[in-house]
Amino acid sequence: MAELERVPPGVDPTVPSSARVYDYLLGGKDHLAIDRAVADRLLAVAPDTRLVARANRLFLTRAVRHLAEQGVRQFIDLGTGIPTSPSVHEVARAVNPACRVIYVDYDPVVRLHAQVLLADVPGVEGIQADARRPKDILGDPYVGGLIDFEQPLGVLMVGLLHYVMDEEDPAGIVAAFRDRMAPGSHLVLTHGMAESHPEAIARLTTATANSPAQAVFRDRARVLRLFDGFELIGPGLVPVQDWRVDDEDDLNLLDAPPRLRIDGGVGVLR
Ligand code: SAM
Repeated sequence: MAELERVPPGVDPTVPSSARVYDYLLGGKDHLAIDRAVADRLLAVAPDTRLVARANRLFLTRAVRHLAEQGVRQFIDLGTGIPTSPSVHEVARAVNPACRVIYVDYDPVVRLHAQVLLADVPGVEGIQADARRPKDILGDPYVGGLIDFEQPLGVLMVGLLHYVMDEEDPAGIVAAFRDRMAPGSHLVLTHGMAESHPEAIARLTTATANSPAQAVFRDRARVLRLFDGFELIGPGLVPVQDWRVDDEDDLNLLDAPPRLRIDGGVGVLR
């Protein structure tokens, strides 16, 4: 008998979503058969991808903590994903409870979660918007109400820009935010690397062709160019599992270079 799925409103169960594939890799509960099929095809050739997803999330946690420790009190998290603990506002508020966060994602499942989870959290808002239209986000009333663009801002593009095709101008998205960011602001970015194992890239590309979960893997030189105008802080753009690891468990997460490589870095605006 065919599997019966509960499909949230606005969701086409025949189209994979990067939010739900990532949720499945992280061990969450919000995914459909089509997402599991994509992830399982990738895991067949790159079984360590679950650990890479986890390492990407741990990178995000460490980077947000670092920004909050530098005095950043406001964050825009572009491509938030389905909530996973700890979330950005929990990490930032553990350093300073005054931190404010705008979550932005175009996925309807992410929006449903945000509506429920953030309803009673002052200083944190979730909006459903497309990062490929940065002017809409920058002009959004919730963003204007929460973010003071005269003060340092943390803009997070973690696991986002590889879903933005070349013709959709990923550098233009970064530039639109950079132009509104005050000195002392930071860009936190991770990206799927062309230096990954060719089989892993080919498998993911085939499994997600012509869907929103399709990713473009860029090489190191191209990812570095996304930081134009920012000064990369140490250790620069490195595999996410190697960036400022401070915890024994994080350190031992991946004991060999993974087949699917995601690099991350943090840039500061002087
Ligand atoms: N940033 C989270 C993290 O790294 O843990 C989640 C990353 S998940 C791999 C990518 C997220 O980006 C998904 O939730 C997806 O819906 C979102 N996304 C992809 N393209 C987007 C776009 N053009 N606008 C807004 N969100 C987008």
